[in-house]
Amino acid sequence: MIDIKGVNKWYGQFQVLTDCTTAIKKGEVVVVCGPSGSGKSTLIKTVNGLEPFQKGDIIVNGTSIADPKTDMSKLRSKVGMVFQHFELFPHLSITENLTVAQVKVLGRSMDEAKKKGLAYLDRVGLSAHANKYPAELSGGQQQRVAIARALSMDPIAMLFDEPTSALDPEMINEVLDVMVSLAKEGMTMMCVTHEMGFAKLVADRIIFMDKGLIEEDCSKTDFFGSPRGERAQQFLAKIL
Ligand code: ADP
Ligand code: MG
Repeated sequence: MIDIKGVNKWYGQFQVLTDCTTAIKKGEVVVVCGPSGSGKSTLIKTVNGLEPFQKGDIIVNGTSIADPKTDMSKLRSKVGMVFQHFELFPHLSITENLTVAQVKVLGRSMDEAKKKGLAYLDRVGLSAHANKYPAELSGGQQQRVAIARALSMDPIAMLFDEPTSALDPEMINEVLDVMVSLAKEGMTMMCVTHEMGFAKLVADRIIFMDKGLIEEDCSKTDFFGSPRGERAQQFLAKIL
């Protein structure tokens, strides 16, 4: 589903990604972890074309990101992305947040978009809040709306970049619960997160990044079970 092949990226002289190679199969859940500044956000953003890269390629469901002929907005609409800071449109109601891209990007009718958006809003347990504005919801609720909004586009895969790290502790589980249920339903997911409980529960694979390199790419049994490389061990010792 997602084939990352020798991706290299530089900011000026600084190499932020070095020969990153991995593949994510349909239905697989991959957790990406590693120290701050190791390139996790940059890597995940290259997958839906939000960050350009200078060398290598990423094939998403058969479409090459490096190919200049690729329609990036079409590709981006197929890969859902959820960020640390929810990024809902503050001036739009929850319903409008859920429908705007469906109508503008996918060309759905407003009726169809509303039906789909509200069904996903119900799924994340927030149908009572359809007419509110983002600022009227808690952080955990806003993040669940952001997930419902991404799902409304019928994505072939979902990318998460530290979706719970800006939340108060009591709100983390309500977001993780939604992610767990998605994972169990077979959604293809790439999740940057330090929630190792989530990783242990649903991850098929763990990628550990350090200084722009994929240092470990293994099953969760191997990652948590047997001693890993020194950097991964140090990292795990700090967060567990
Ligand atoms: P992570 O998500 O693992 O914390 P990032 O992918 O955000 O790491 O960043 C990786 C490195 O790239 C960091 O050293 C960061 O300072 C640098 N970086 C990120 N964005 C930019 C940018 N726009 N210009 C220059 N350097 C950047
Ligand atoms: Mg980051």
